[in-house]
Amino acid sequence: MRRHKKKKPSILLLYPIFILLIIVSIPFIMLASSGGLINNGAYEELKIPEVLQTQNAEKAIQVYFKDEDAVKDVNLEEYLIGVVAGEMPATFETEALKAQAVAARTYIINREKANNEESLKLHKGAAICTDPTHCKAYVSLEKTKENWKEQWEANYNKIKKSVDDTKGIIITYNDEPISAVFHSTSSGKTENSEDVWGGSVPYLKSVDSEGEELSPRYTSTVEVTITDFQNKLKQKKSDIQFSQEREKWVEGIENAESGGVKTIKIGGQTFKGTEIRELFGLRSTHFTLGFQNDKIVFHVTGNGHGVGMSQYGANYAASQGAGYEEILKKYYQGVVLKKAY
Ligand SMILES: [Zn+2]
Repeated sequence: MRRHKKKKPSILLLYPIFILLIIVSIPFIMLASSGGLINNGAYEELKIPEVLQTQNAEKAIQVYFKDEDAVKDVNLEEYLIGVVAGEMPATFETEALKAQAVAARTYIINREKANNEESLKLHKGAAICTDPTHCKAYVSLEKTKENWKEQWEANYNKIKKSVDDTKGIIITYNDEPISAVFHSTSSGKTENSEDVWGGSVPYLKSVDSEGEELSPRYTSTVEVTITDFQNKLKQKKSDIQFSQEREKWVEGIENAESGGVKTIKIGGQTFKGTEIRELFGLRSTHFTLGFQNDKIVFHVTGNGHGVGMSQYGANYAASQGAGYEEILKKYYQGVVLKKAY
């Protein structure tokens, strides 16, 4: 089999989430840190969806804590500290952490509005869960103490500040909270959502993302035996035909705009890049494959589905002087930041 240098978009880990009841709280608007604020620190007020309002002056959200198998009401801003701690290393640039806080806040509010039966079932009615493979990563306060040890105070304060400094700020498109999806590391170009999940979303378009090679997960390799390769593909499409000349198994690759693998034709059957990613546990759909003795070797670039904000790309942009607002507007095209509460 020839080595193909095409790659492909990533898979769809839809990170689901949910509910939150926002409440209008004390108007301590901390407009002080003018760093990322637009219009001289005055964000346009966003009308708060009724479903997000509660009678208290607090923003509450229902979370399903998987470890404890329990649903609890928590303060959204406090919960976000645990999400940012779970999603990004505390060593990341402050502006990247702020971008993450705003993206996660937006994601949660958006999911709450888009709540559906399946998610409700998986969450026992809560808006979001703490399972990173399903919703967003979350680290409890106790766990952060364990993880960070003597660095705890400095790290915790840094992350808390990234949440506090962006309090209530969310990303909107047409005055609605966006689906603020994000991923670890892109291939150097993020993905169009339609290339990964099939649905076109105006603000989830492929953009250049610099500095990705600084991510420890930028490149990876996966080896599978030829037998496993054949069996897994056969399980997916039983009509697949493997000819004697293995160099001819891969018949063609259609690339996504990012350069990743959108579809790949193998043995007469067409697979989505996301299917191949899932079947062989690849970190992304940006892969090439070739034979090496009795094995197939995938060379993979990037980590994650590739749609929306790249966390390592955001960190690099911040290291180059970009503020969180600039970072978010780069990865989510045509959006407006607003203060939801
Ligand atoms: Zn979940």
